[in-house]
Amino acid sequence: MSIIVQKFGGTSVANAEKIARAARRAIKAKLDGHQVVMVVSAMGHTTDELVALARQVNPNPPRREMDMLLTTGEQVSIALMAMAIEAAGHQAISFTGGQVGLITDSAHTKARIRTIDADRIHKELKAGKIVIVAGFQGITSDGAITTLGRGGSDTTAVALAAAIKADACEIYTDVDGVYTTDPRLVPQASKIDQITYDEMLELASLGAGVMHSRSIEFGKKYNVPIHVRSSLTDIEGTMIVAETAGMEEIVVRGVTLKKEIARIVLVGVPNKPGVAAQIFARIAEHNIVVDDIIQNVFDKGQEANIGFTTSLVDFREAQMVCEALAKEMKLRAVETDQNIAKVSIVGIGMKTHTGVASKMFNALAKAKVNIQNISTSEIVVSCLIDAKDAEKALQVLHAAFELDKRGGK
Ligand code: ASP
Ligand code: MG
Repeated sequence: MSIIVQKFGGTSVANAEKIARAARRAIKAKLDGHQVVMVVSAMGHTTDELVALARQVNPNPPRREMDMLLTTGEQVSIALMAMAIEAAGHQAISFTGGQVGLITDSAHTKARIRTIDADRIHKELKAGKIVIVAGFQGITSDGAITTLGRGGSDTTAVALAAAIKADACEIYTDVDGVYTTDPRLVPQASKIDQITYDEMLELASLGAGVMHSRSIEFGKKYNVPIHVRSSLTDIEGTMIVAETAGMEEIVVRGVTLKKEIARIVLVGVPNKPGVAAQIFARIAEHNIVVDDIIQNVFDKGQEANIGFTTSLVDFREAQMVCEALAKEMKLRAVETDQNIAKVSIVGIGMKTHTGVASKMFNALAKAKVNIQNISTSEIVVSCLIDAKDAEKALQVLHAAFELDKRGGK
């Protein structure tokens, strides 16, 4: 008998009616002959509301207590889901993360999964029950309640699917799949039928907020096929898999935009060994997340400008750190720009095709978008641009790679 994991996000369990609908979906899978495990998120915006409540009580809440608070959201959903299934005449049992032995490390609010006890779930499935597991939460080996980071229910679902050797992991959400780009910014965006784990990882980290990136890492590591689909329809969504049909023909699978980026440049840095190490060690000490690094050498190689981008959230602190460094190192200046955006093209076919980057640069040039910096990896080309050009750049790239026509197939 095959096992299916079905994960329902907050919007798919936002009220009693939606809970009943999700319950019917699980029951249908059961009646079709599968063993079914559901993973559910907190209802609607519950987690956000709990975060806001905590901040009213304490602007800087202890992480352990934050986990204690936030996990209550999922505990409400699993109990209601089990009740909804029983009301429809089927057997169900709900479990917290701790109860199914989802053991994590002790990094409160961003814990990582260590092990999952599959036996408990298998036993209940064999007894004919639909098993409902709280997403986003776990327990440390000494019994403290933890969470996996915001959006972590996806990771619970895929990790569970791997642990219990499920045949598929379905992610039910309020969109009908993964798109070639954000449809709110590019109306021609089309649904992607199949995408590889590697491409999906890049899309997730480049700002396409469809799924928690760690869930894709789990999927890739344990080869769990992931089906992202709408909880409102029966239409097939997007399959995330190791290899897609005609993989080499698709040069670019999607284009992404990341905004709210700032750039900080240290001007007049001596061009000698150890300087970059010194600068970035200091930045790391302050836990500032650096994205792209930019270096230009001039003055016959005597001097360099060393810069980096970071999210606007970290900007103020990064600026302070760099100004202190500039003083200590007697640099000429620190230049900043808080209006940066990053557009990227992602596609596994780039590995075997040439001319992809130049096609990107041409499209941007035609649209009179100035490229400030370029970075590449095996399956991504990214350009930093002025934030005012962001949407235009996304649109021209989407058109240049014919993503509207091809539907990313
Ligand atoms: N409820 C948690 C959150 O809102 C986890 C999740 O939904 O995946 O972040
Ligand atoms: Mg989510």
